[in-house]
Amino acid sequence: MSADSSQQLFDKAARIIPGGVNSPVRAFGSVGGSPFIAEKGEGPWLHDVDGNRYVDYVMSWGPLILGHARKSVVEVVAETARRGMSFGAPTRNELDLAALVRERMPWIEKLRLVSSGTEACMTAARVARGATGRRIVVKFDGGYHGHSDGFLVKAGSGLATGNLPASAGVPEEITKVTASLPFNDIPVLEKTFADTGDDIAAVIVEPIAANMGVIPPAEGFLEKLRELTEKHGAVLIFDEVITGFRVAPGGAAELFGIKPDLVCLGKILGGGLPIGGVGGKAELMDNLAPVGSVYQAGTLSGNPLSTAAGIATLRELGDPGVYQHLEQYAEELTGAVAELASKHEQPIQINRKASLFTLFFSECEVTDFDSAQAADMKRYAEFFHSLLKQGVFVAPSGFEAWFVSTAHTRVQLELTTDAIETFVREL
Ligand code: PLP
Repeated sequence: MSADSSQQLFDKAARIIPGGVNSPVRAFGSVGGSPFIAEKGEGPWLHDVDGNRYVDYVMSWGPLILGHARKSVVEVVAETARRGMSFGAPTRNELDLAALVRERMPWIEKLRLVSSGTEACMTAARVARGATGRRIVVKFDGGYHGHSDGFLVKAGSGLATGNLPASAGVPEEITKVTASLPFNDIPVLEKTFADTGDDIAAVIVEPIAANMGVIPPAEGFLEKLRELTEKHGAVLIFDEVITGFRVAPGGAAELFGIKPDLVCLGKILGGGLPIGGVGGKAELMDNLAPVGSVYQAGTLSGNPLSTAAGIATLRELGDPGVYQHLEQYAEELTGAVAELASKHEQPIQINRKASLFTLFFSECEVTDFDSAQAADMKRYAEFFHSLLKQGVFVAPSGFEAWFVSTAHTRVQLELTTDAIETFVREL
């Protein structure tokens, strides 16, 4: 009997798992078609059950900065698992990982490990509200901070006040304590703080937005955020779930030289296994139970396997050559795309900061959520399928970053530029 194909497995999955997937974007909803079923990963390659091999730019949506199944990580996870997979008691690994994080990000004086980026952001908001005694948390349109109720809020017509739930099941009451502002808009930020600054518990921001495609901060935007939060006694939270350990050893805070009060981490921190972390100033972090009165807990928090994978990953990232490699790859790839776009007279905007980048099919510069939404997503869907057919797996949504790993080399770079050229030439 022959093995099931991706299509057969996905059809079966859809009968037992909502939409056939355990996280919506995996379903190819915004590009059409149905997803392949992953079989295994090797370095920069992802193999599906149909026998296809792809250059992978999804890389599990960011955690796999060392590539798939990196030997040093796999071995330490296997060895750790043999000694027990969870204890519900403190372990040495938690201490070692926290110490490594503090070494890279000295503004993280204390760190609490959780099991996902969602939990990290949810906890950061609770700490900020608990510490300040205030209610309002400000986020930015198009920013993503996980799927907790408080962050599933989109801007309504009234900027800071008239917000709307971004999902069914989120009570309207919750949207009243979250404000969503346009990213990179300093005047709106100033006005919001002038009007309601003393009610704001925290501002949470992806310092390089990476969930509406990659959008770097405008000149002075993060500096203004730091200045206003400090002036009004609000907590500045950098959500570095994507950027942490990727754009520099110390993340975007290091890259831009701005110290946040709290940082949310995830993805790379767990080297491919589930993890999240919230860290920052000791005086804020000590609001958490059991020291303080802000409650937070987790059965599998600081899990030995995730922390082992995280330690192995962060140790390898201790080599500065890693960041040079990632950035050079991104620079060469986006440079090649810019040349192709100009040669074939195609309107492609390339947004890049360090090794994080996105291509937008648009005539206009992309600087915020509105301009990201104005890009041609139908064209992106065609691009996605053309690349997939040619053995290159990019995100099945035009609002995502491309993720490069240390395992990506010239072989993958050439394959990718050839595939993009084929697509652009045929337009
Ligand atoms: N914050 C950012 C910036 C993210 O990109 C994500 C997930 O993609 C999250 C938070 C939520 O992390 P998780 O999916 O681990 O819950």
